[in-house]
Amino acid sequence: MRTRRVVSLGLLFVTLVLVGSFMAPAVAEPSPERVVAIVPLGKVRQEFLDTVRQELQSRMKVRIRIDPARELPQEAWYAPRSRWRADRILDWLDENPPEGAWKVVAVTEAEISATKGNVLDWGIAGLGNIGGPACLVSAHIYKKHSKTKEALLRRLGDLAVHEFGHTLGFPHCEEKGCVMADAKGKAISSADASSGHFCAKCLGTLSAEDRALVK
Ligand SMILES: [Zn+2]
Ligand SMILES: [Zn+2]
Repeated sequence: MRTRRVVSLGLLFVTLVLVGSFMAPAVAEPSPERVVAIVPLGKVRQEFLDTVRQELQSRMKVRIRIDPARELPQEAWYAPRSRWRADRILDWLDENPPEGAWKVVAVTEAEISATKGNVLDWGIAGLGNIGGPACLVSAHIYKKHSKTKEALLRRLGDLAVHEFGHTLGFPHCEEKGCVMADAKGKAISSADASSGHFCAKCLGTLSAEDRALVK
């Protein structure tokens, strides 16, 4: 009897495996957990890093870690204006990526700039490469122009979501309240007009895999 039971269990197992293989939908292997690394550049207040982490975590189903601080790269120093070139910082991050990170969000309190149209060196709050691995946010402008800490942190968090959105592939967006609105050189009023969320139009451009990562 014992043998028969073993045999019938064996048959049952084979049947289940067969049924399973016929019924299983074509599901791709789950991709490894996506990791977003927040990289402080220079000395950055912990509450700034925590705010960036919280804001990103409230939008994204990814693992977010805060890496050890790095010095700003000397090659990005712009002596004529005594500030740092954001585009060069992003290039440097692309060349020196944190290990195991899917995306990098660099956070600094230093003053940063980039070329904007025909202005060679324009002060900015943040920069992100569209579809690239890295973005950069600076608290400098918000520290200077925010009356309360709450306003400063809210603006910084909004900016982090905006720059991170560029790395997801979003260009600037015209939809009212969308976090991807073009600041048009006005970092403060732009952050204050933002809902802090990606609009449906922006989200509609994501691949199914990336869309599943957005809350
Ligand atoms: Zn932008
Ligand atoms: Zn949008």
